[in-house]
Amino acid sequence: MKVTVVGCTHAGTFAIKQILAEHPDAEVTVYERNDVISFLSCGIALYLGGKVADPQGLFYSSPEELKGLGANVQMNHNVLVIDPDAKTVTVEDLNSHEKTTDSYDKLVMTSGSWPIVPKIPGIDNDKVKLCKNWAHAQALIEDAKSAKHITVIGAGYIGAELAEAYSTTGHDVTLIDAMDRVMPKYFDKEFTDAIEADYRDNNVQLALGETVKSFDHDGDRLKITTDKGSYDTDLAILCIGFRPNTDLLKGKVDMAPNGAIITDDYMRSSNADIFAAGDSAAVHYNPTHKNAYIPLATNAVRQGILVGQNLVKPTVKYMGTQSTSGLALYGKTIVSTGLTLAAAEDQGIKAEQVIVKDNYRPEFMPSTTPVLMSLVFDPSTRRILGGALMSQYDVSQSANTLSVCIQNENTIDDLAMVDMLFQPNFDRPFNYLNIVAQAAQAKAAKLDAVD
Ligand SMILES: Cc1cc2nc3c(=O)[nH]c(=O)nc-3n(C[C@H](O)[C@H](O)[C@H](O)COP(=O)(O)OP(=O)(O)OC[C@H]3O[C@@H](n4cnc5c(N)ncnc54)[C@H](O)[C@@H]3O)c2cc1C
Repeated sequence: MKVTVVGCTHAGTFAIKQILAEHPDAEVTVYERNDVISFLSCGIALYLGGKVADPQGLFYSSPEELKGLGANVQMNHNVLVIDPDAKTVTVEDLNSHEKTTDSYDKLVMTSGSWPIVPKIPGIDNDKVKLCKNWAHAQALIEDAKSAKHITVIGAGYIGAELAEAYSTTGHDVTLIDAMDRVMPKYFDKEFTDAIEADYRDNNVQLALGETVKSFDHDGDRLKITTDKGSYDTDLAILCIGFRPNTDLLKGKVDMAPNGAIITDDYMRSSNADIFAAGDSAAVHYNPTHKNAYIPLATNAVRQGILVGQNLVKPTVKYMGTQSTSGLALYGKTIVSTGLTLAAAEDQGIKAEQVIVKDNYRPEFMPSTTPVLMSLVFDPSTRRILGGALMSQYDVSQSANTLSVCIQNENTIDDLAMVDMLFQPNFDRPFNYLNIVAQAAQAKAAKLDAVD
């Protein structure tokens, strides 16, 4: 069986390892246009902020490792054409520029995503940078050395992390976003108000509700003009989202409107011999039971493994995702899973929300600190749809607990009373997750009384 893998960061690396573990006789060839594999982009902000000293730690595999497992690894090779009828790929060796055509029995599309670059005048200015791969990370750290003022465009979680990192390394930072809140996809206003206050306390200038209209040279500097003002800066980083890198299969397999490849539960595209995983593919989003585009490494590694498990026959079903994610900003853990109230409303889902702030452990302990919590639920089924937590205490694993609750279609009643450990070092007789669910029960009871 000849297997061709297009692209090798997370989905590709995990797919190759699983394919070779399950089918040691498979002839697996991977084409990767870059010269590295398995780079953890999530480490870029940590590297820029000085928390990670050695960026080599941000790679967990290598071409040598995959070769050792039996893969034919073709680095610096760009796949130019995929012909699903002939079952061939045409590939360019980026060093020699030689083009070759190779056949496959199964094709694995793990070509990922690329940052969205809108057609804004001046956007090709060399002071406007992207933040996605290892080459970008190196350029960002180099350019930051001579930059005093850095502007981050896009206040999603990547822009949010970059703005924090640069503000802690002696830079003046402006964070611009067309939306009027930071990270609105992940957090409701009670959370984003607090996050924005932390940015202001750390001298980050927030330019929210502003749309960038142009970039111009201003001597040695860059002038960014928005619909509401202008900003002189030394460096701008564009982080406004990602689009799937799937043009090679356009019109050849079913895709979502943004180009994400639609797969079945076994990672098969509409062409039975073409599999897709990671940022090139849509995910099944459990809170809505619909397809969605959620480019996260969490999804990429799971889907990559599933490709290996299902390559020959459908065997293991994809569980879907809650889009559970988290970040650390100014010493706070900020995590979310599933739907915010605003996202539920946008999707036409009738949802209710409770917001609770409570100390994570008893006040008689030498110290304690508040946890801000949100729980979003369906008032008719009482099913948990989403949640978020923010605290100086490390509440990251509680988002994972909520994720399991959503995955398993648990209700607020399940979470209110489920057994959780009590010990004053860690929490109260009821853990803070029990408490937020009990608040949801109280709210549901009030709503029922009104009905
Ligand atoms: C700054 C940043 C921070 C992030 N933080 C997190 C985080 O904290 N948690 C999390 O879960 N996710 C995070 N993500 C998202 C995560 O990095 C992506 O979801 C993940 O990289 C997707 O992996 P992938 O293998 O599907 O695709 P990609 O990483 O996009 O890799 C695709 C690969 O395919 C190659 N390729 C594409 N086309 C071709 C072609 N025609 N020929 C040959 N090769 C090709 C590319 O060169 C690339 O190596 C972050 C992303 C960024 C940018």
